Amino acid sequence: QTNPTSRPTKPRYVRVNTLKLDVDSAIVALDKEYAVKKDDMVPDLLVLPPGTDLHDHPLVKNGSVFLQGKSSSMAATALMPKSGWKVLDACSAPGNKTIQLAALMRGTGEVIACELNEGRIRNLESTVRRSGATNVDIIHGDFLEINPMGPLFSEVNAILLDPSCSGSGTSTERLDHLLPSYIRDREVATASSERVKKLAAFQRKALAHALSFPAVERVVYSTCSIFQAENEDVVCSVLPLASSLGFRLAAPFPEWPRRGFPVFDGSEHLVRTDEGDGMDGFFIALFVRETDADRPTE
Ligand code: SAM
Repeated sequence: QTNPTSRPTKPRYVRVNTLKLDVDSAIVALDKEYAVKKDDMVPDLLVLPPGTDLHDHPLVKNGSVFLQGKSSSMAATALMPKSGWKVLDACSAPGNKTIQLAALMRGTGEVIACELNEGRIRNLESTVRRSGATNVDIIHGDFLEINPMGPLFSEVNAILLDPSCSGSGTSTERLDHLLPSYIRDREVATASSERVKKLAAFQRKALAHALSFPAVERVVYSTCSIFQAENEDVVCSVLPLASSLGFRLAAPFPEWPRRGFPVFDGSEHLVRTDEGDGMDGFFIALFVRETDADRPTE
């Protein structure tokens, strides 16, 4: 619950849905009522003063802008999907990153949005409908059960894996009022709790599974957790597998100073955000595999 006596201090971020509206038109529309500027790191993201409430704004209601935090928007940005690619959003509801991927791909190619929880599929469908994206296919199922060699998946170029996590990095003042149940009971999520151990076991399995898709060139693993057990430790546990499959850790947002905890060689490639950055606590790892097409020809 938001503490009514506390004043919000973090900027508010909204992402312009470029499938419906261009960024400059959004600025012109919002600038009539609010001080608004472009974010300097994430394309299509706008920064508004702390406490700005846009829930009932017509641009939000008609899907031209989405209330999405900066740290969350950084995950799909880090994946850098190309137009025309086939991209799998492995754990996708309520779909904020799904539709951001669809927009980054300019409505071309295909975003396959997988979601296990039937109730949350409805949120996902509603997000996709509101965004106007026509290149999203929703799959109700378990990501771990997807056969990477199956005809639908053997040509997937990139995977965004934003699995269930403790939510320990999310602030109670966030605009997202659709907090899922696993975040609502986060008071039981301490770094060493049984729940976090179970989540980390799932996260490790899911990340290893994502790396096993034969045509995948880029995998982003992200959480809204601040715990090392769900972040650096998960990444570190799949490094031997990743390297045997030709993946390396890459450094998205190279200018960003807050990197992974220094618990293994290469953790400086990881991205962390936290309250001190005026954002929720968030974690991003990017795995990249060089393909024949990327290699310079003689
Ligand atoms: N990426 C989403 C967004 O930005 O809107 C948020 C994803 S949320 C952190 C994790 C989601 O993964 C939940 O909706 C949860 O139901 C779903 N999930 C958990 N286990 C899954 C599995 N095995 N397969 C597919 N989805 C799963």
